[in-house]
This record gives sequence, structure tokens and C-alpha cells, in this order.
Amino acid sequence: MKNHITYRNLVTGGAGFLGSHLIDRLMTAGEEVICLDNYFTGRKENVAKWIGHPDFELIRHDVTEPIQVEVDRIWHLACPASPVHYQFNPIKTAKTSFLGTYNMLGLARRVGARILLASTSEVYGDPEVHPQPESYRGCVNTTGIRSCYDEGKRIAETLCFDYQRMHSTEIRVMRIFNTYGPRMLPNDGRVVSNFIVQALRGEALTIYGDGSQTRSFCYVDDLIEGMIRLMNGKHSGPINIGNPGEFTIKMLAELVRDRVNPSLKLIHKALPADDPMQRKPVINLASKELGWSPTISLEEGLDLTINWFKSTHI
Ligand code: NAD
Ligand code: UDP
Repeated sequence: MKNHITYRNLVTGGAGFLGSHLIDRLMTAGEEVICLDNYFTGRKENVAKWIGHPDFELIRHDVTEPIQVEVDRIWHLACPASPVHYQFNPIKTAKTSFLGTYNMLGLARRVGARILLASTSEVYGDPEVHPQPESYRGCVNTTGIRSCYDEGKRIAETLCFDYQRMHSTEIRVMRIFNTYGPRMLPNDGRVVSNFIVQALRGEALTIYGDGSQTRSFCYVDDLIEGMIRLMNGKHSGPINIGNPGEFTIKMLAELVRDRVNPSLKLIHKALPADDPMQRKPVINLASKELGWSPTISLEEGLDLTINWFKSTHI
């Protein structure tokens, strides 16, 4: 008998980067977890330590197909997140965002579960308002190479709020800003993993464009804390969760280079189409509603991530 209230949790995309860190937190807290994944970018080894645990189940399933399971909470993370992966098959990405969220909302409605959507700062597109509060409606290209993901997440948010209005489904919508940490795929093309892997291999770090574009990088442990507080709290969102520290990509390259090997070169490559020029969250709402703010600096988080990549012998 457990001596505290526990939930039956469904984590879609649970074998991925963020999903597997969330599962570690839920399992450590004594919750029941069903991890659902199609292994497009996720890996069984990310959750291997829980296989065989009586409170843990693993289901290979694609969220574009409906599924019936009895759960109390749905953490809907399934969707490729790196531009390289979500642009690999953009039609599938759009289907995953729309049909996947539609299927999970249908499930939440049927079984009376609360559902959290992992949305993104990409809903702000290439923002004309800086920094970005939740009230900013964004500047998104509907026809570009990032649109499958950006517009996919926008319609996913819309579906959540229509389920809330029509069916009183309990929703939580989280707008995640660039997050990094252990278990990122070495080849997923995101900037933090690219720079660290290049530096550890003794290669030049590839800056796209002149490197003046900015991002705000949140360490994974901070992000997961915000996600859990949002699910447990009363606010439906959308709520920005991210680290408001803002860095140019050139500054990030220099930080990684100086930590691994200061003699490495920084080289420039073409800037991809529609690459947002600036990104920085306003987190007043998360602070007020969830009592959340990040605690791990970029320098600390990079050291933790570099050490993890070193341990994988990439
Ligand atoms: P990830 O690629 O590591 O994880 C995504 C997981 O979803 C993978 O395990 C993948 O196999 C699975 N998946 C993809 N399509 C699926 C499908 N059709 N059916 C079932 N499973 C499927 O990415 P991540 O960084 O862990 O991102 C998780 C979620 O957070 C995504 O929804 C992403 O859009 C969102 N997000 C992440 C970031 C970030 O910086 N990491 C930023 C904004 C939003
Ligand atoms: N980027 C870069 N070099 C790389 C990978 C990415 O300069 O090797 C840049 C990319 O053009 C973008 C920023 O880093 O401006 C963040 O890219 P990422 O793919 O991590 O995330 P997103 O663009 O979705 O925020």
C-alpha cells in the first residue's frame, strides 16, 4: 500500500529526451507510468532502468492512431522537436501534432483525465515582440519549412482550448523554450548538442549565419520541475516555461568551446530559412501561478551536459 495519493500517468513521447526525464521524476515519486512511444527519435535505453518495475509499462504506439487506456493524467509530449527531425517528414509532423493531440484529447475526455500539452516557443514564430509574453500572438510563416511544427503546435493548442470550452476537459498548455541536457541525441541537429558533440570530437563548431540570433536555454531539470508544477496546479495556461537568460548563438559557441578546448575553430554556415532572430520568455506568469523560476545557470547546465556526453563516448 502506498501512503500517498498516486496517479496513473500516460507519457506520450516518453522514450524521448524530455519524456524520459519526466518519467524518472514520476517513477521516483512512486507514481504509475505508461510510456508510449513510436521510437522515431526516442530510445528504449532512456527508460531501460524502469523496465520490469511493477509500476511501469512500455507501449509501442503511434499517437496518430487512437488508443484506449485507463489513466488519470496524460503528459502529451510525442512529437519530434529538433528542426532536422521535424523537417524529415513534415507531413507526418503535422499529422502527429494535429491527430496526435486530437486522439489524446479524445482519450482525456473519455476517461476524465487531465492532459498537459508540450507546446513550444515556436508558436511565437520569428517574434516582433521581445521578450515574449503569453499574450503575444506570434509571427509565424504558414508555408515555410518550420510551419509543419509551428502551425502544428498552434492548432494543437487550439484543440486543447476547444476541448476545454466544449467538454470541460482539464487542460494544461505549456510553452517550452529551448531546453537542453543529458539524453539529447548526438545527431539531432539542435544547437547545444551539435556544439558539444563537435567540440568533444575536436571539430570546428558550426555557427549558422553570423551567430547574432538569440535563444534562451533552460536546463532539463528546471524544465521538468515547471512541467510538474503546471500539471499539479490550477492554471490551464498557456504558460511559458524557459530560462530568460538570453544568449547569441556566437556566445553559446564560445562558452562551449572554452569549456572543452579553447583552440577549436568557430566556422559559419548558411542560416536556415525562417530561423527566428530572437527568443526570450517572459516568465512572470509561471512565477506567479506556479512559484517557478529556473535555478540552473547556462554555465552549470553546459558542464553537466558536456560531462554526460563525455560519458557516452560519442
Ligand atoms: P524528442 O524528439 O527527444 O522526443 C519526442 C518523442 O516523441 C520521441 O521519443 C519520439 O520517438 C516520440 N514521437 C514522435 N512522434 C511520435 C508519434 N507519432 N507517436 C508516438 N511517439 C512519437 O524531443 P523532446 O525535446 O523530448 O521534446 C518533447 C516535446 O517537447 C515535444 O512535443 C516538443 O515539441 C516539445 N518541446 C521541446 C523543446 C526542447 O527544447 N526540447 C522545446 C519546445 C517544445
Ligand atoms: N544553430 C547553429 N549551429 C548548429 C545548430 C543550430 O548555429 O549547429 C542555430 C540555429 O540556426 C538557430 C539556433 O542555433 O538559430 C537554435 O537552433 P536549434 O535547432 O537548437 O533550435 P530552434 O531553432 O528550434 O530554436
